[in-house]
Amino acid sequence: MKWKEQLLQLTPYQPGKSIDEVKKQYGLDKIVKLASNENPFGCSDKVAEALNQSPLTFPLYPDGYATDLRAAVAEHLKVNEDQLIFGNGSDEIIQMISRSLLGKGTNTIMAERTFPQYKHNAIVEGADIKEIPLINGEHDLDRMLEAMDEYTSVVWICNPNNPTGHYIPEHRLLPFLEKVPKDVLVVLDEAYCEYVDAPDYCDTIPLLKIFPNLIILRTFSKIYGLASLRIGYGISCSDTIRALEPVREPFNVNRTAQAAAIAAINDQSYVEYCMQRNREGLELFYQFCFENKLEYYPSQGNFLLIDFNTDGNEVFQFLLEKGYIVRSGKALGFPTSVRVTVGSKEQNEGVMKVMGEYLTFKATCLEGVKAQ
Ligand SMILES: *Cc1c(COP(=O)(O)O)cnc(C)c1O
Repeated sequence: MKWKEQLLQLTPYQPGKSIDEVKKQYGLDKIVKLASNENPFGCSDKVAEALNQSPLTFPLYPDGYATDLRAAVAEHLKVNEDQLIFGNGSDEIIQMISRSLLGKGTNTIMAERTFPQYKHNAIVEGADIKEIPLINGEHDLDRMLEAMDEYTSVVWICNPNNPTGHYIPEHRLLPFLEKVPKDVLVVLDEAYCEYVDAPDYCDTIPLLKIFPNLIILRTFSKIYGLASLRIGYGISCSDTIRALEPVREPFNVNRTAQAAAIAAINDQSYVEYCMQRNREGLELFYQFCFENKLEYYPSQGNFLLIDFNTDGNEVFQFLLEKGYIVRSGKALGFPTSVRVTVGSKEQNEGVMKVMGEYLTFKATCLEGVKAQ
């Protein structure tokens, strides 16, 4: 058949191993998953309350305009309702943007390494991809600007960046936005913004009034703890949203997700609670890295990329067999690192203990080699 040629170079997304798979394979009864930056505390109790109260309406299509959720998010962000677009996860917004703006003869610019879905969708649409290497885990905004030409349609900025956890301070982001040509869409993916505590992180919502070519992506999958329901959103000027709407499927966000998201966004004290626990967890990991002389990128997200200075897959496998699922840095472009999601206090202490065991094991192996 006449498949799009570019599809032949793609493979399906490889999800991490499921908890059940790992249990069975290694005969473990407790598994801790710290691989996908999910919220270890789950979602707000208000979500369960809201879902218990909402009637079972499985036969009916959801509200395609997400009217109530739209009102709640608009109120929370202090934007107009027509500045929002909802997706089946922010992944779907990435897809909508790509479908609307990318194709043969266009190009798109992103960091190397960043969230892989930007590149994946760009390939599907047949666009040329310009990947600009990170410098010390940071976006190289100057080189990204230099890479722009008249065929550039979209530039992707992940802030904080997944998988490095690095953020772009306001004094760097603003001059960048000013220099991007007005006909290039800037996608600012802020999936982790609620975790940030850097004082010079930019509140980007007010910028939407100045830059009509800016769209901000946010999600309910991370700090809000609703990853399984698949819901995220884009915020932009109303013209950009109107231009994207025709590629959105009519009923793309299900009813349960909409109800849950309203309850979640209305419980900001829970968000604050999770943010604080995450900071405490990160500090513990920093301490661990310091004590064990491991390099890491300071993180503004709920994950940490730790360099073990050895094959990341080996660390991953060692942890896996002890019941801790993390992400090997290999597939993320950091072959000697692993990315660990910050968990609960107990989970963090548990994974650090096993990481410590790995380091001891490794040191013993090396001594064995020397002794020979
Ligand atoms: C997790 C993640 C997303 C995807 O979020 P969904 O809303 O679950 O699709 C988007 N961007 C980044 C950088 C992420 O880490």
